[in-house]
Amino acid sequence: MTLHFLDENQENIQWFKKHENDFIKLRQFFHENPELSKKEFTTTDKINALLESWGIKTDRSFLETGVIGLIKKGTNSKRIGLRADIDALPIDENTDLIYKSKKAGIMHACGHDGHLTMLLFAAKYLKEVADFDGEILLIFQPNEEDSAGARDFIEAGLFKKYPVDAVYAMHNFPGAEVGSLLICDGPQMAGTVGIEIDIHGIGCHAAHPYKGVDPIVTAAQVIVALQSIPTRNMPATDSVIITIGTIHGGTAHNVIPETVKLTGTLRYFDPKIRELTKQRIREITEGICTAFGARADIHLDDGYIATTNHTKETEIALKAAQTLFKSEAISTEKIPSMGAEDFGFMLADQKGAYFYIGNGPDSSSNKLHNAGFDFNDRNLLYGGAYWATLAQYYLNNAQS
Ligand SMILES: [Zn+2]
Ligand SMILES: [Zn+2]
Repeated sequence: MTLHFLDENQENIQWFKKHENDFIKLRQFFHENPELSKKEFTTTDKINALLESWGIKTDRSFLETGVIGLIKKGTNSKRIGLRADIDALPIDENTDLIYKSKKAGIMHACGHDGHLTMLLFAAKYLKEVADFDGEILLIFQPNEEDSAGARDFIEAGLFKKYPVDAVYAMHNFPGAEVGSLLICDGPQMAGTVGIEIDIHGIGCHAAHPYKGVDPIVTAAQVIVALQSIPTRNMPATDSVIITIGTIHGGTAHNVIPETVKLTGTLRYFDPKIRELTKQRIREITEGICTAFGARADIHLDDGYIATTNHTKETEIALKAAQTLFKSEAISTEKIPSMGAEDFGFMLADQKGAYFYIGNGPDSSSNKLHNAGFDFNDRNLLYGGAYWATLAQYYLNNAQS
């Protein structure tokens, strides 16, 4: 086992090692009992019961699922938020694990079982052992995968009731060594816009297309032309992806249909680029439809916003990491992804940072949202110890 700790004999690390097996069992319990977004009822009950059993105050008043824990020590009014997501995915698990999902069609394929267990591990240490001056807000957030539980939590008044000086989240990262931390400033995950385009033509016999307006030929032009937006309407350094994921139209080989429906997704980092791209999608689609005698209904729905780290809070997370881990276990290389993450809503509302913990080398199954995925239990020790270190470091050192 490669150990990344600067000094393994430190008391805090000894404590985490002593309790490691209990939390491995706990993580495997959550893995065995996954629940879909907004249905994390037994997961929430279990987290709540554990927090209370350790004497940690809880608050479930915000959403139907998910729970807040509060640990206060000393007199400082500073408060740090630590967020873990708790939901699973509608995927049928394909592993031989003894703790394989007991629920057909549902599994923890994104490692949220591990995220919530790392935070529980840190919570027990912070409550029972750690020395700090201030308050820690433990955010066990539901519904990350489906429809932005982070935004729901904020809209339900989370940060109005418990404002924080900074909020942090950690996601596992297949493709980096287990226990290594990846922390960098700036954009982390992309924002999303849902694309829905209905192209209306005039249906007719396939042998007499001049008597109608063919929405299939029109749609084909639109799909190709939209791909010119990222390379011809903005600097190449501004990342944008436009993907049309579905095309539906037609009922028979010898009929030109009335309509074709296209759906897809736009991914971006900069809101100005999002607006420009939306404008170009409209102009190109409407222009082509007009030229072909067709008509378009275009719906562009803003989804997740980009997840962008704040500079000072990222630096604090890095400094905290340097007190615990050897430098070779910490990477500051930029790794923005066109994937999306609802923690962006928390970082738009409060200061903070989102970072990654390695989940081992890339393989055919070590991929997020893969039916063979499993969170690496060695990360409970590293991630649990790091959460606790970050909270203490922030409350004891950072100047607001
Ligand atoms: Zn996911
Ligand atoms: Zn995830």
